Amino acid sequence: MNLLINNIIILSTLLITTVACDNSTGKKENSNSIKKENKVTIPSFNSDSAYYYIKRQIDFGPRVPNMSSHKQCAKYLTETLNRFSDTVYIQETTATAFDGTNLNLINIIGSFNPENRNRILLAAHWDTRPFADKDPNPDNFYTPIDGANDGASGVAVLLEIARLLSKTHIEIGVDIILFDGEDYGVHSKHENKYKDDTWALGSQYWSKNPHISNYNARFGILLDMVGAYEATFKHEGYSMYYAPNIVRKVWETARHSGFEDYFINRKGGFIMDDHYYINKYRNIPTINIIHQEASTEHGFFKYWHTTEDTIDKICKNTLNAVGQTVVNIIFQE
Ligand SMILES: [Zn+2]
Repeated sequence: MNLLINNIIILSTLLITTVACDNSTGKKENSNSIKKENKVTIPSFNSDSAYYYIKRQIDFGPRVPNMSSHKQCAKYLTETLNRFSDTVYIQETTATAFDGTNLNLINIIGSFNPENRNRILLAAHWDTRPFADKDPNPDNFYTPIDGANDGASGVAVLLEIARLLSKTHIEIGVDIILFDGEDYGVHSKHENKYKDDTWALGSQYWSKNPHISNYNARFGILLDMVGAYEATFKHEGYSMYYAPNIVRKVWETARHSGFEDYFINRKGGFIMDDHYYINKYRNIPTINIIHQEASTEHGFFKYWHTTEDTIDKICKNTLNAVGQTVVNIIFQE
């Protein structure tokens, strides 16, 4: 089913299948955008605005598929992207979770210059983990999480980029894809083992059924957990396997922009995330900017998949480092 409402296109399918941070000062952040040689001024990422977009999302409550908070947030994200981008596509589908639950999923896509074949794809997952199975307190193992960092931060950076793009003329086509169902993967306590393909359900669907048939982009950048204090982003394994040149380009741009404390030139682990399926099924070289940390047992940020992934763990300087780097990449193209 294809419905066109204003400029929102609904595609509905039934498918059974180490930097200190002070949030009170956002002053330094206007100096990191690179001036382009042809005098195009690259817009400054506003981390206050991105922080606000995180707050708006978590105010709905956990964005777990089939919950009313999930539906309400989808409406908010659709309306927000519709304000900023040229066309919004809503892709609705169902998927079966690892435990047999039938999930109603919504991928939300905001496109800029949809007619241009020269495109960049930017993505993040907007759903949150239904259970805090890494929480130190076993009572919380089945409690849904706020996902201020895991989910909301990546989306918020992309919404702020959408806002900037709406005010600036760009030639290149940009698609902002908010994937659903990324974090509904197998419960670590329940099954006690990792299961392939139980994660990233929305992107698995989109990668096989893109919102536009034969959709292509030159490259893609996925953002996941990009808001914590002292976040470090290393060269993630699948990103290096499928898109090493894009990794180098992004890390180089980050260094030129003054963010080398965040973007570390070191090998990271292989993370099963939305970018894996975009590479595998759509052959679009796509990287993952994801917070990896050597000091924790699981290798992610300290509050990963716990009830403590809350807004007080969000650092505006980190949002700015990632957001401005991606903006600089877009305007280099
Ligand atoms: Zn997660």
